[in-house]
Amino acid sequence: MKMICINCPKGCELDVEQAADGTVTVTGHTCPRGEAYGRSELVNPTRMVTGLVRVAGMRKPLPVKTRTAVPKGKIDAVLFAMHQATVQLPIRIGDVIIPNVAETGVDLVATANM
Ligand code: SF4
Repeated sequence: MKMICINCPKGCELDVEQAADGTVTVTGHTCPRGEAYGRSELVNPTRMVTGLVRVAGMRKPLPVKTRTAVPKGKIDAVLFAMHQATVQLPIRIGDVIIPNVAETGVDLVATANM
C-alpha cells in the first residue's frame, strides 16, 4: 500500500506491506516517525477529530477536539456525539465536554474559552 507520510511537510512517499505472517514492512521513510506512521496506518489508522458543539443560549458554537487521535472507524460516531451535545457556559480550554466520546476511551475537550 502506498501512502504519504503526513507527519511533516516533506511528505515522504511510503510503501507499506504486510506479509502473511503479519509482519509489517515500511520503506520510503526518511525518519523513524515515518516508519511508525506507516505501520500505524496499516494496522490501526487513527485521526484527531475537531468540530463544533452547540452552546445553550448562544448562536456561536464551541470549538472542540478529541484529546488524542481516535480510530478512523469511530470518526462518524464522534461527529454524531458532537452534533447531539449542548454545553453550558462558562467553558475553559481543556474542559472535558464529552468523556470517553463514542466509547473511544478519548475525551472530547474544549479548544476555546467561552
Ligand atoms: S518520514 Fe519523516 S521526514 Fe518523511 S514526511 Fe514523515 S516525518 Fe517527515
